[in-house]
Amino acid sequence: MNAINHAATALLINRKWPGVPIIPVFISVQVVEFLWVVLNIAGVEITNTEPVVRAVSDIHLTHMPYSHSVATTALIALAVWWVVSKPFNKPVWGAALSAGVISHIILDLATHVQDIAISPWNDSMKLGLGLYDIPSLALFVETLYGVWCWWVFRGTRKLLALIIVMNLATLSFYSLALNGPEQFFAGRAQLFAAFVGVHIMVALGGVGLLAHSSWRTSGSAKVSSYLLTETR
Ligand SMILES: [Zn+2]
Repeated sequence: MNAINHAATALLINRKWPGVPIIPVFISVQVVEFLWVVLNIAGVEITNTEPVVRAVSDIHLTHMPYSHSVATTALIALAVWWVVSKPFNKPVWGAALSAGVISHIILDLATHVQDIAISPWNDSMKLGLGLYDIPSLALFVETLYGVWCWWVFRGTRKLLALIIVMNLATLSFYSLALNGPEQFFAGRAQLFAAFVGVHIMVALGGVGLLAHSSWRTSGSAKVSSYLLTETR
């Protein structure tokens, strides 16, 4: 899934668990992708491309059992939950951050072609609903998801504009007919991984900046629930 829409998931988490610091929430929704970037650049995980890259469907995430498998994501989420909830004694933070980690693989399972392994020890059966087989539909559905996150969060118009613009900016990646920067990644999978790394940072930075005034703290949640009961 497009980095901006993973970043938008942080808005849902902030709405559900107000007061959890946003930087760890940002890291949680993208920790799996950060891992993917590092492991691809290191050559541990493998991405292949067609000789000509016209869209995301020409980029194949061939081998990524450590960053993107159901089992490793579940393990990371469990480890995050345990460390934050037990030694650090922050069970609400633990719930929010582990939900952030899990959200990533759920969104990727919904969009990717069948390239997500069940575990590093079972690389034969792979999962994915296959939305990226129809890139233009994938972009439409992803954009709708990002806008839905904004709507649940009740963010500013500038934040909505950022989500829409960052989705539309990747239009050529989701269109076989439109040529864009994706063509330069043919045969350069590690460069693509580095590009994704930068894209993640820009998306998180943009959401962090434009959602800044609307982040819910645990105090603001109490105030708003008080106001709700008072006005009933
Ligand atoms: Zn991913």
